[in-house]
Amino acid sequence: MWLKRYLDFGSGRPLWALLADTLLATNTPSSEKNTPRSIRINYYLQSWKTGTTSQSNQPPDILRMLKIGRKYGLRIEGIAFERDILREMPIWYHSQADSKIRRLTGSRASKCLLIKHNLTTVGEAEDLAAILVTVEGRPNPHENNNHCRCSDCTNLREKMGCNHPNLCMLRAQDLLDTLPTKWDPHAEQPGDNEPSLTSLPSQKDEEIFDYRLSTSGNLSDIFRIFTDPSHKPVNEVPIRLFKVRNQIQQVTVATDGSCIDNGQTTAIAGAGVFFAANDPRNQSVRVPKSLGDTTLTQSNQTAELLAVKLTS
Ligand SMILES: [Zn+2]
Ligand SMILES: [Zn+2]
Repeated sequence: MWLKRYLDFGSGRPLWALLADTLLATNTPSSEKNTPRSIRINYYLQSWKTGTTSQSNQPPDILRMLKIGRKYGLRIEGIAFERDILREMPIWYHSQADSKIRRLTGSRASKCLLIKHNLTTVGEAEDLAAILVTVEGRPNPHENNNHCRCSDCTNLREKMGCNHPNLCMLRAQDLLDTLPTKWDPHAEQPGDNEPSLTSLPSQKDEEIFDYRLSTSGNLSDIFRIFTDPSHKPVNEVPIRLFKVRNQIQQVTVATDGSCIDNGQTTAIAGAGVFFAANDPRNQSVRVPKSLGDTTLTQSNQTAELLAVKLTS
């Protein structure tokens, strides 16, 4: 429960969680001596290490919290994440980035980004690097040198005290380039083809099936427990094989699956879909005993899923 509250990054984050952040970031092993203290924001979101043994200076409560996390397989996991979540992640030592991100803290530009720009998140790095990007058909007022007088560079000089805006933008891009596609807000994400469900008209007592692959919400929602330690989550972004082109066109279809002798060796399952009276798309089928080499369980659940599959 403590751990869950600690990983609540919403507005209700308890005060003690901020204290825990500081303890975790301070009681680090000697292997982290070259990691600037200011980049250590959250142990679970970044790749720096913290003290996990009783020999470290870590308070017992924190050690217990870390142990619970390990015991129940707590980690970041999800097929894809909404872009807002990707942008909220800390950029420095981003936990999912290529390990070379750890070498990007020492340069003149990195120090300027840390101290003067106060750059913290992926979103901030993306906004800064965006100044370098020329959109087709639109002239980019920025010149790729540190003497550029465009409004963005002037702003960075005046408001941040940055002496080399172009260099800092390039460094922000270097940081972003270490992110795998699944964590890169610039990459195409499944969410780009997943229209909001709230715009669909729904009838009373009707629940709309959430078909989206992307985890929504905030950073609190990206964690899972009871994960499989032998399985390493992939960091490539999945691309949907179909795209929703017209979200207004709605089809109402009734689906059902049922099973006689459910749970017994004699179980027989079947599925049916009903579009309308005499509609040629109406179907009823038996759940096959196998599909290729896979044996299909004759159960109510298999039948329900098959029924949904029949509608597509
Ligand atoms: Zn400029
Ligand atoms: Zn700068």
